[in-house]
Amino acid sequence: MTPGASTRSAYETFLNASCDRLGYGSSIISLLSLAAMEIKVEIPIVRDNGELAIFSGYRVQHQNVRGPCKGGLRYHPEVDLEEVRGLASLMTMKTALADIPLGGGKGGINCDPRKLSLRELETLTRKFVKRIHREIGPNSDIMAPDVGTDARVMGWIHSEYSAIYGHSPAAVTGKPLALGGSAGRDKATGYGIGIVVKEYAERHGIDLKNATAAIQGFGNVGVHAARAFSDLGMKVIAISDSRSAVFRRGGVDIDALMRHKQERGLLSDTEDHEAMDPARLLETECDFLVPAALGDAITAENASRIAARTIVEGANGPVTSEADRMLKERGVPILPDILANAGGVIVSYFEWAQNLQREIWPLDRVDRELERILGKAARDVLDRAAAEKLDMRSAAFDIAASRVKEALDATGF
Ligand code: NAD
Repeated sequence: MTPGASTRSAYETFLNASCDRLGYGSSIISLLSLAAMEIKVEIPIVRDNGELAIFSGYRVQHQNVRGPCKGGLRYHPEVDLEEVRGLASLMTMKTALADIPLGGGKGGINCDPRKLSLRELETLTRKFVKRIHREIGPNSDIMAPDVGTDARVMGWIHSEYSAIYGHSPAAVTGKPLALGGSAGRDKATGYGIGIVVKEYAERHGIDLKNATAAIQGFGNVGVHAARAFSDLGMKVIAISDSRSAVFRRGGVDIDALMRHKQERGLLSDTEDHEAMDPARLLETECDFLVPAALGDAITAENASRIAARTIVEGANGPVTSEADRMLKERGVPILPDILANAGGVIVSYFEWAQNLQREIWPLDRVDRELERILGKAARDVLDRAAAEKLDMRSAAFDIAASRVKEALDATGF
């Protein structure tokens, strides 16, 4: 199964189980399962060497009954429609669980951004917006950064969209601050992981001082989760990117690793960090394991070797449904993606709201509001899991699915 198909199939498994518990009929299951709109466009660009290259771009709008579709834009060679579909449906669940007035969407282009020049990337992004601009916007579908995209890409989207519709900062989030981006958006997902872990630890009487963590992924989510953990007094003992990994019993030095990666392109070979096989990172013995790279990191093949006491899904869909079942049997708790990494979409919501109201919030207000909304979502999940004797993913899906159903019912379905 491709990673995309697996994310989609895991979503279907979790959704069907949830609808079963909630006693929902087939029409509601279809509405929660099918996407409202799926767009595929071909995007030809002239490469710097004069050759023509054609990429496929996707945008899936899953549900907008609670608000405009919201979700990231991914640049990765393996992006396909199945993957975008699965990720878009997860966004519907995530925004509903956070109880923010947005729906679910996702997009992607099947390119390797590391192999494109800045000019090629900008041309590709602007052409994608030219192809799909009628279907996106502040009241319909709002993009944000994801794997392989960043604030600069969001800035190009803002500029291209605004050239057609006039100044429209609320059409995209995760923009540079100079273009109406929000304070705190950059760190929001990783910072949110810290908020969720803190709520979980408080509920279960776990002392976070010196608790250990291993993080897979050294991108936006991984780096900011590492910072949030160290602010909580935890030790990140191992961290990896796609080609390298390091271990340090006393806690890795994120700033030093960032400098090292910038200079050498790898995390390993730093003087005071031990190099490790990135494939073994997931097997590190630790209190919290955070897969924060791509989907399908933990599968039936490696689930039995996971040695962490708790898994925190920083990435979207990092645990397949089969691995989820195996880990449940072994009693390894999982803080699910739709809760653990919801900090990003919550601060994206703040950015959208600030842009619509022509407001600029200071960082302390963003952090405070994020703690309020995500802290409540975490407590809702912990409460429901305890009350119904459910694992946290099931509790999270039940809360989210019932909120979407309530909205669908209110529209007259
Ligand atoms: P990113 O592109 O900034 O970073 C991804 C990182 O993963 C890179 O360091 C890359 O080297 C690493 N990686 C890729 N394959 C790997 C492998 N096999 N082993 C170890 N590392 C590997 O992406 P990001 O924005 O940090 O997103 C990471 C995950 O978090 C994705 O699943 C994304 O959908 C999810 N997510 C991101 C946000 C956000 O705000 N950026 C919000 C919610 C969820």
